[in-house]
Amino acid sequence: MKNLNRDTVCVQGGYTPGNGEPRQIPIIQSTTFKYDTSEHMGKLFDLEAEGYFYTRLQNPTNDYVAKKICELEGGTAAMLTSSGQAASFMAIFNIASAGDHIVASSAIYGGTYNLFAVTMKRMGIDFTFVSPNASDEEIEAAFRPNTKALFGETIANPALVVLDIERFASIAHKNGVPLIIDNTFATPVNCRPFEWGAEIVIHSTTKYIDGHGASVGGCIVDSGKFDWTKYPDKYPGLCTPDESYHGVTYTERFGIEGAFITKATAQLMRDFGCIQSPQNAFYINLGLESLHVRMKRHCENGLAVAQHLNNHEKIAWVRYSGLEGDESYELGKKYLEYGGCGVVSFGVKGGRKAAEAFMANLKIAAIETHVADARTCTLHPANATHRQMNDEELAAAGITPDLIRYSCGLEAAEDLIADIDQALAAI
Ligand SMILES: *Cc1c(COP(=O)(O)O)cnc(C)c1O
Repeated sequence: MKNLNRDTVCVQGGYTPGNGEPRQIPIIQSTTFKYDTSEHMGKLFDLEAEGYFYTRLQNPTNDYVAKKICELEGGTAAMLTSSGQAASFMAIFNIASAGDHIVASSAIYGGTYNLFAVTMKRMGIDFTFVSPNASDEEIEAAFRPNTKALFGETIANPALVVLDIERFASIAHKNGVPLIIDNTFATPVNCRPFEWGAEIVIHSTTKYIDGHGASVGGCIVDSGKFDWTKYPDKYPGLCTPDESYHGVTYTERFGIEGAFITKATAQLMRDFGCIQSPQNAFYINLGLESLHVRMKRHCENGLAVAQHLNNHEKIAWVRYSGLEGDESYELGKKYLEYGGCGVVSFGVKGGRKAAEAFMANLKIAAIETHVADARTCTLHPANATHRQMNDEELAAAGITPDLIRYSCGLEAAEDLIADIDQALAAI
């Protein structure tokens, strides 16, 4: 059946068992696959026949789950990766190499910032970071002839700035590059970036998609809408023969719908090996089965906590796009089904010291380097995920030294609020 409701895809997408086959997705815990003839194996290696031969490249369990996420995002092809970091890296490295350049929003996850600004820079790929609130002219001024993509986050972690995806997409297209969106905090339940013009979506499935703090993972989804063949000189890896893979030209053999993911699988996954494990893919699918139900609750709790904090005398400021008057309120209304997510950022009056005392007093919310879990967790980014940034870089990423990131789980909102109140009362 076509055009199923997103909720139905969360539960049943990606895998349809045949008569007498397992109802739940099978965990194919096998590194390799057996064939009757070498000739058949040769065809698989030449990408002339479809089938599995080695789990470092592809595995059926992973593919069921990738297919479900692909259906949820409305894409044409997808792949799982070992982590969200691997997904960001591969999505960029698939179309950029030494000597190339990427424009990225400055309001992104700290790990992504470090990957781009430090590690990928060392590989010879240059990044220019632009404020998501910069004018079209300012963003366009960052583009160079060797720019290969524009990158941004739907809801920035932890700054919680909502990206104007449609505007970023039109700037990307004007400059002949795809828009790559990290849709981790929104999930396809809350936002589908392809509907607003983005071409590639990446996820850290570690967050809401898993949702139970059970497995680290990532995913790359292609909309199949960017026509690489219009720019063969800019994207030679997709438009000219890959000598490292039997001379295949990905756009010719797999079309613009399949070229990006096939290249990322056949070339990058082959060489980097950052594959998801089938066991973890199974857990990710368990998370997906309830994603639509959980996201609603995460967002309801997020709004309730944000509203409460907003009226509390010991709180200096609150950031939550679902909150009327928030800087991202209008964009949240436009792009997010629930207006926000489960994560709230705020500052306690008294700055860094008060923030540390508040966090130590919390009883239900635990201090963790994590977000988007069933259990409420909280973090002080200036002391943890973003400690490699100086104050100027922190400010560009929308983070102040007193910022507390509070990720509402699935508990009762009244208990979370009571916990916050007692922790604030004690400082
Ligand atoms: C956590 C996170 C990542 C990195 O994902 P891992 O699975 O931890 O590697 C990337 N982007 C965002 C928005 C994240 O929150």
